[in-house]
Amino acid sequence: MGFDGSGKIWMNGKLVDWNDATIHVGAHVVHYGTSVFEGIRMYQREATDGKSAIFRLREHIQRLYNSAKIYRMTPDEMMLGGKNDPNDRRLAYDIDTMMNACVETLQANGDKAAYIRPVVMRGYNSLGVDPRPCPVDLIIMTWPWGKYLGPEALEKGVDVCVSSWSRMAPNTLPALAKTGANYMNSQLIKTEALKNGYVEGIALDTNGFVSEGSGENIYIVFHNKGKDGRHLIYTPPLGNSVLPGITRDSLINLADDAGFEISEHMIPREMLYTADEVFFSGTASEVTPIRSIDQIKIGEGKRGPVAEKLQELFFGIIDGKLPDTRNWLTFVDMK
Ligand code: PMP
Repeated sequence: MGFDGSGKIWMNGKLVDWNDATIHVGAHVVHYGTSVFEGIRMYQREATDGKSAIFRLREHIQRLYNSAKIYRMTPDEMMLGGKNDPNDRRLAYDIDTMMNACVETLQANGDKAAYIRPVVMRGYNSLGVDPRPCPVDLIIMTWPWGKYLGPEALEKGVDVCVSSWSRMAPNTLPALAKTGANYMNSQLIKTEALKNGYVEGIALDTNGFVSEGSGENIYIVFHNKGKDGRHLIYTPPLGNSVLPGITRDSLINLADDAGFEISEHMIPREMLYTADEVFFSGTASEVTPIRSIDQIKIGEGKRGPVAEKLQELFFGIIDGKLPDTRNWLTFVDMK
């Protein structure tokens, strides 16, 4: 990642200097983790027209809104009878306004390829657990983020383990909301994996079924085992404590385009080891093949044809080599 901490940050409607974008230590978010956020990417199409394009901005901001809605931070929250409670503060921005604010921040900072990080959080007012009196603040940071993970991981694949930590149980911390608090669980998974020499951990859900990585959705592939001998891809359903990844949704569409059979399917741990291919997806990891799990070689121990084809389609659309038929790209004028 890496950024020099310069430029502007969008804070509650104003662009402020990087070093002035501060919050009070008494903010609710500091004490109770009261935040929802997004990770979005703007690519520069170096291989074609050089334009800057954000990948699926609307869908990311819609997920941000949904996360806030689950945590009762949006105007959808009302008392019985439809009235609003004046002591219950809400997010003041709709989806279009938040999308425009992302673009405004990118243009102010001028990076042609960037990572975009909007955060909705409860600010400073009361320190009781009840969040409602605390203002709902929106900040948007952007910072330069150029290349993909690099040919190394995307071509050769990565070595991962199954984590000793489970993902959040259903009806505890909702997995469909992308909250700061959920990343405490991700941190346990990630640090354990790194300390043991792996690049990432795969978490199971509390029933022992495969869920996701600390920051990626996961897929397993069986060659020629689908209908009419097609390649068969499974990814865990949302009920297995997974984040509804925007890249996941994209790959479900692209797999179809490629003529693969793809479905949401509960995955027992041992299926990971017997699959012909396993790969991750996410805004950061894009489409990253997995070559070993718990030191067991997966398939040929390198990127398989399904992951390679999905990479080709995914990057093809982003780079402008393939048509963007689903309007996934938002172009930003970066004069
Ligand atoms: N699962 C988790 C836990 C994540 O943090 C991410 C990254 N946001 C993903 C899946 C992938 O989601 P997306 O494709 O929207 O980046």
